[in-house]
Amino acid sequence: MLNGAVANIRTHHARLSELDAINGDGDHGTTMLRAAARMEGAIAEHKDRNLQALLSEIAWALLGVDGGAAGPLLGLLFSGLSQAADGAPALDAEGLARAFEAGLASVAGQTKARVGDKTMMDALIPAVSALRKGAETGQDCLQSLKCAAEAAGAGAEATKALTAKFGRAKNLGDRTLGYPDPGATSLALMFQGYWEGVQKTGAAEDASR
Ligand code: ADP
Ligand code: MG
Repeated sequence: MLNGAVANIRTHHARLSELDAINGDGDHGTTMLRAAARMEGAIAEHKDRNLQALLSEIAWALLGVDGGAAGPLLGLLFSGLSQAADGAPALDAEGLARAFEAGLASVAGQTKARVGDKTMMDALIPAVSALRKGAETGQDCLQSLKCAAEAAGAGAEATKALTAKFGRAKNLGDRTLGYPDPGATSLALMFQGYWEGVQKTGAAEDASR
């Protein structure tokens, strides 16, 4: 799941900087590349530890990404994920929903941005709702993550029609109309990567049986 997010950010980082050049200062792609590299490093170093420890190391790695608002906010997301993982060896759909609800709560404690403000929250909040719905309707992790990725993607796309209320883009008024928020776009790329990563791992396991 986590490696899938790293791969997807790497593939699309240039697009993130393009969007941030319109909505902000043009650095979101490079900030997210740094975040992806730090995430990858933490995974490599701590993959044999329990989920809580791994997610906590990723959180610290992301909190240390300098140069923008996104690194610390993503760090808080992973800090919440880690707290909810609570020693669990693996997460089912309910565990995923709970973990991301805790992650969202952690981010929401730091920013007042919500759906409609043209930030990463426009992707994160619907994705977390989709995970909750998935758990409640008996979906497995893969189905639930697919719905979360679609919800995050739709949320990011919907930011095209919005003007920003937070972050650097706040000062640009209508000039960002027609372009999606970079942070919402990267959040959606991460959720897409989570889903693709789990899908690939599942396919590899099926093939080796
Ligand atoms: P910076 O704006 O500091 O250069 P980045 O370019 O890395 O940071 O990230 C910009 C993204 O961060 C925005 O597109 C938005 O999604 C998110 N963001 C910025 N400020 C906030 C905030 N106060 N609350 C929520 N998200 C924010
Ligand atoms: Mg920026």
